[in-house]
Amino acid sequence: MSWNKPLPHATPISAPYWEGLKAHEVRLQQCEDHGHWLFFPRSHCPTCGSRRLAWRQVSGLGTLYTFTVARVPTLPEFSDEMPQLLAVVELDEGVHINTTLVGVDPAQLAVGMRLRPVFDERPGVATLLRYTPVDSAHPDVMTDATADVQAPAAEPAPQAVASKRQIGHKDLEALRGLVSEQYSGWSNAVQVTQDMINQFAALSGDDYWIHTDPERAKRDGPFGGTIAHGALVQVLASRLAMPMDFEVVGFGNIVNYGSDRLRFPSPVPAGCRIHGRYRIKSVEAVKSGTQLTMEINIHVVGQDRPSVINDLVMLYM
Ligand SMILES: [Zn+2]
Repeated sequence: MSWNKPLPHATPISAPYWEGLKAHEVRLQQCEDHGHWLFFPRSHCPTCGSRRLAWRQVSGLGTLYTFTVARVPTLPEFSDEMPQLLAVVELDEGVHINTTLVGVDPAQLAVGMRLRPVFDERPGVATLLRYTPVDSAHPDVMTDATADVQAPAAEPAPQAVASKRQIGHKDLEALRGLVSEQYSGWSNAVQVTQDMINQFAALSGDDYWIHTDPERAKRDGPFGGTIAHGALVQVLASRLAMPMDFEVVGFGNIVNYGSDRLRFPSPVPAGCRIHGRYRIKSVEAVKSGTQLTMEINIHVVGQDRPSVINDLVMLYM
């Protein structure tokens, strides 16, 4: 799953800390006059006021100072990692660091437990510092790939289900309560690469140059380069995890009944990241079950105008 969460921006003062994490080291500032350790990164020692500060590598080991098990997402982007284990860790040097815990059952958490650092790599952007119990089997380094594998295991299934409201497929009143003019929060983002576009061109047979010939598209096309097929962007909705706070349950079968409206109002240039959001547009009882129409909008990240509008009709039977 792609990453669509706030990420840190290094400042001149904090850059050595983030560079340390990229090298899988925890680095703290220490005051050279009196040996005080400090965190977060600063220009002077908050204890004695000294400006003579040095960056030092430390073990990163510490103890759990306090924690919160957050079962409601703090932002829609975090709905894929519920419950979120927010923690303050007291490093052995005495400083406190805000973090999240991974690779631990929330029921096992106890103030004072020993913790070790986990480096969560977000390639090209930053490496984040998370923590896990010293005796956890969790790897020291998380990449996108290991995060995907770890996430389901770290979340006990009953809690993941409990955080969503369950609505029976025949409960028309409750389902109609979902109908709204308001869109949801955004899904994760996915990059639409030239390689994906080429594969779609080969599969569909639509290999028009505007999609597959970057040089010609740059020279002759109206968009300064190649663009994705609208149909490709539409089906990529399957890779976008929409932040749903409900779940329709109790049905025997769900049928994708097609679309009431499908529009491609703006192009998706190759290499762009897309994300999506939805709203429930209508709920109707039909002879064979309940028909729910969900408007899905897919945008290039940062663009107001959607690239895909799809009124998707689902039939719960
Ligand atoms: Zn000091």
